[in-house]
Amino acid sequence: MDRNGDNSVLPRISWIGTGIMGNAMCGRLLSAGYSCTVFSRTRLKAENLLEAGAQWAESPSEAAEKADVVFTMVGYPADVESVILDPEKGVLSGMRHGQSGISRTGIVVDMTTSRPSLAVEIAKRAEEIGVQALDAPVSGGDIGAKNGTLSIMVGGSRAAFEALRPIWDILGSNIRHQGGPGMGQHTKMMNQILIAGNMLGVCEALRYGKEVGLDLNVALESVISGAAGSWSLSNLGPRILREDFAPGFKIRHFVKDLRIALDEAASTGLDIPGVCLAERLYSELIEAGFADAGTQSLVKWDGKG
Ligand code: NAP
Repeated sequence: MDRNGDNSVLPRISWIGTGIMGNAMCGRLLSAGYSCTVFSRTRLKAENLLEAGAQWAESPSEAAEKADVVFTMVGYPADVESVILDPEKGVLSGMRHGQSGISRTGIVVDMTTSRPSLAVEIAKRAEEIGVQALDAPVSGGDIGAKNGTLSIMVGGSRAAFEALRPIWDILGSNIRHQGGPGMGQHTKMMNQILIAGNMLGVCEALRYGKEVGLDLNVALESVISGAAGSWSLSNLGPRILREDFAPGFKIRHFVKDLRIALDEAASTGLDIPGVCLAERLYSELIEAGFADAGTQSLVKWDGKG
């Protein structure tokens, strides 16, 4: 453990998954003085963090052995399952032998957007070995990750949530405990349902404006602060006008989220036709080769495949 200027103890962090989001978030913890160990599938994506003082681990379990708090920010539920639950290389296998730490048991925090049921399973398996688990997906995009202005939606034990307060404050600006295991992920699904309809609106509106001959820069200035304003419009609208289709948020990850939302809704008998439509249009973009492009590329959908 490291000592703060005021002699309080900083927990040792491990960070698994250093892509668009994880890299920026771990970078903020390093800048705030936390000692961080990192592991990611492609080491190159962690080079900047290693140069900034992070240590490299060869596996999630090795990363967990060196930490009091382990964060995961990978891609899909299958990745979460393997990095946390793999019996030999997973985080929980590395935390098995007991650690010192702020809670004296260790905390694993999955920040990936993943299945609520997997969060429940992880919390159960963690509890069996005396580790606390939180699901803590985020919203606010690459910009929020860089600036520490994410909205963080947390499920799991309230005590573990409170213990991590100083860390949440470095990563986000709107941090809320949503209930027991899986409730953070359910909140994130609400968020993705909102985004689905919003992205359809943003992209259709800009396609319409272009078609009828508006100056889109001026038109955007009018609508951005009216009743139709939104994060997607303010942040992705200008990217569309600059023809910047880099992710941000990758289409393949959004389709993953929409399918989780559809499955969860179906399991309650709820029909969510707006999400159905968004899932179909974004899936067509994946088939057309846009899987790794940003979600603003929906503006390129023309129904012609
Ligand atoms: P990303 O750039 O693809 O980053 C994911 C990172 O995790 C990649 O570096 C990937 O390795 C690594 N990884 C994946 N599976 C792994 C495994 N089994 N073991 C070790 N490392 C593994 O994606 P992102 O945009 O940061 O998004 C991460 C998660 O946050 C996703 O669930 C996404 O839906 C969610 N999210 C994203 C945004 C956003 O705006 N980008 C916003 C909110 C939530 P490789 O480099 O080898 O692929």
